[in-house]
Amino acid sequence: MKIKRLEIIGFKSFVDKVVLDFQQGVTGVVGPNGCGKSNIVDAIRWVMGEQNARSLRGKSMEDVIFGGSETRKPHGMAEVSLIFDNEDGLAPPAFAEYAEIMVTRRLYRSGESDYLLNKTPCRLLDIAELFMDTGVGRRAYSIIEQGKIGFILNAKPEDRRFLIEEAAGVTKFKARKKTATRK
Ligand code: ATP
Ligand code: MG
Repeated sequence: MKIKRLEIIGFKSFVDKVVLDFQQGVTGVVGPNGCGKSNIVDAIRWVMGEQNARSLRGKSMEDVIFGGSETRKPHGMAEVSLIFDNEDGLAPPAFAEYAEIMVTRRLYRSGESDYLLNKTPCRLLDIAELFMDTGVGRRAYSIIEQGKIGFILNAKPEDRRFLIEEAAGVTKFKARKKTATRK
């Protein structure tokens, strides 16, 4: 599954709708300090289900909603959609008929939040399952941020094993076993 497009509205510094198209090959994001490069990575991590506000560089999750500027009022909602192509057919069988898979997350200032898969409301768990074993999930290795290489090298063997299992494609089965044996 390759990232095709990212759509951001009201997330961090992106007040109006921004659509980023990812082409084949490597994508570089360049710009002056504070222009929002890291906010793009935060948006990707957030839509994939990140629950830790601090790892998104905020104090609380509400900090991801556009907080206003000199000329613009704060937003009431943040919405991010990540669109994958499914040409390699790596998505679970339920998505086989879809050429594109769109994952959306919304958060309102009231604290209410929504997750959607191809515009249909779903659970966070459904999104997590979609990404399991693809290397893309929020704990997986597709986002290597500052300090992550050091973390992997210094990690305890059990923690490092998580990444190896994800690459080997057994994460999903372990998660299902855990759910099945839970009392
Ligand atoms: P650097 O090159 O220094 O790493 P960057 O391009 O990665 O910079 P970001 O960290 O992505 O920059 O963006 C920081 C900007 O985003 C700051 O100006 C900050 O005020 C703005 N910002 C973050 N959260 C919000 C929010 N909730 N509402 C409005 N602006 C926000
Ligand atoms: Mg940055």
